[in-house]
Amino acid sequence: MSKQIRLAAPLQFDSIVDGPGLRVVLWSQGCPHGCPGCHNPETWDYQAGNRFNVDMLIDKINDNKLQQGLTLSGGEPFEQASALVKLVKGVQKPGFNIWAYSGYTFEQLLADEDKRALLQELDVLVDGRFEQDLFDYKLQFKGSSNQRIIDVKQTLATGTIVLWQDPYAKF
Ligand code: SF4
Repeated sequence: MSKQIRLAAPLQFDSIVDGPGLRVVLWSQGCPHGCPGCHNPETWDYQAGNRFNVDMLIDKINDNKLQQGLTLSGGEPFEQASALVKLVKGVQKPGFNIWAYSGYTFEQLLADEDKRALLQELDVLVDGRFEQDLFDYKLQFKGSSNQRIIDVKQTLATGTIVLWQDPYAKF
């Protein structure tokens, strides 16, 4: 069955700031968190943006062979979890990793059946609301220090939060 998803913008290719390597970024439309200092408040409205066909998005991502991963951002991607489960399953291939940003915590996502289904498809989750008081421009791949960059597969396997280790980090 064909699904649609509401996005704030068309897919963005060749990002180098939303996770490691060259990445496709998907800007999900609609967010319930209302974090003060949010950099994308235009993504809060659930009726704004435009609808996109998920099968078409899958084809666009798979047609671009240079990208090393996909990042689900927004907005709050987990508000459209079921459409994104379909999309993520359609783009999985060796060496291609899936990251997502969420204002929900890992524990909140795990407790919700629909959101958990998307969580289980991810490699990395950057979790938690943006906290203006904890903003630090030196942080890599996250906006405020309360947010965690979580290795989802290891965390689900061990039952305890395992943070992602950057393989290219300097020793
Ligand atoms: S979760 Fe992200 S998009 Fe939503 S209000 Fe917070 S910073 Fe903005």
